[in-house]
Amino acid sequence: MGWKFEDLLRPNIRILTPYSSARSEFSGSAAVFMDANENPLGSASGLPYSRYPDPLHWKLRLRLAELKGVDPEWIALGNGSDELMDLLVRSVAVPGNDAILITPPTFGMYQAVAGVNDVRVVEAALGDRFELQPSRVLEMIDPSVKIIFLCSPNNPTGNVLSAEGIRVIAENFTGLVVVDEAYIDFCASASIVPQLASLPNVAVLQTLSKAWGLAALRVGVLIADPQIIHVIEKIKLPYNLSLAAQRDALVALGDVQFLRDTVTKISAQREYLRERLSEIGCVRRVYSSETNFLLVEFSDPQLVCASLREKGIIVRDRSKLVGCEGCVRISVGTESENELLLAELRLIE
Ligand SMILES: *Cc1c(COP(=O)(O)O)cnc(C)c1O
Repeated sequence: MGWKFEDLLRPNIRILTPYSSARSEFSGSAAVFMDANENPLGSASGLPYSRYPDPLHWKLRLRLAELKGVDPEWIALGNGSDELMDLLVRSVAVPGNDAILITPPTFGMYQAVAGVNDVRVVEAALGDRFELQPSRVLEMIDPSVKIIFLCSPNNPTGNVLSAEGIRVIAENFTGLVVVDEAYIDFCASASIVPQLASLPNVAVLQTLSKAWGLAALRVGVLIADPQIIHVIEKIKLPYNLSLAAQRDALVALGDVQFLRDTVTKISAQREYLRERLSEIGCVRRVYSSETNFLLVEFSDPQLVCASLREKGIIVRDRSKLVGCEGCVRISVGTESENELLLAELRLIE
């Protein structure tokens, strides 16, 4: 196909020379580090944090490469996938001129990142059953659209977008297609990652925030052709992942059984919750989901959110989103949390 990420880059990004530290220019072993103005005496309270961390996160990338079945050169890490979304937009979309395309109802962060970067948002809505409509997406494209964000499984609707549809879009678009797979671990359908070799303009986002249970560490994963990865490495802040995040994430990724158990338990609880919710009077509809949340339509979503909040249960009102009228997004909790939720909902008319 001969697609070149370079051709898509913002002019200022194309000519940029990255920030370089003395340590990143040095290879070999040294015992004395007097290059970075760190504290040679150690850290307050004796924690092992006196030295700057690895800007390229090699240990963590190697482990993720092993888990994802890709070469480490195909992985870049961000301070959450939110940071990676911002970096991708910043790399290609010229503020005040360019645009991204989203398929509402979808994750709000794409729009938020576009807003901060003064980049327009073009919308190509999902269909009645929240399905991807490739022809609608392709119709909305003009030369200012640099990135198409697709979320699969989609937040807040919980469904998977057709892999074939994603492929059609990617093959008929010269810009970048970002497929956000934040919930892929909960999902029976396969990740698009194995197809990336034949789809050079597709970049996949994953995260350790959901199934791995590491939301507080802030580790997002970008899997893409090395030409994309190298640009992200060039423009990101050098120390975007703290040593604590890199080290603790590496430890956590050793516990694959935790991931498997989480997926089994949460999926079972999700299906249980779905059945019980459908029997409750104020519930109009529960959408099927391949994630760790359910989109639930109520006759009065505001009343539901307010009543639950009074009982200390926080859920996400999505009823203002076009296509999600009446809907509330509910994350699957523990068994007892789910029972508490059901009991409170049964009290609402
Ligand atoms: C939760 C979520 C993420 C994760 O973001 P992090 O910054 O990695 O915590 C990304 N995309 C979607 C659609 C999400 O719902």
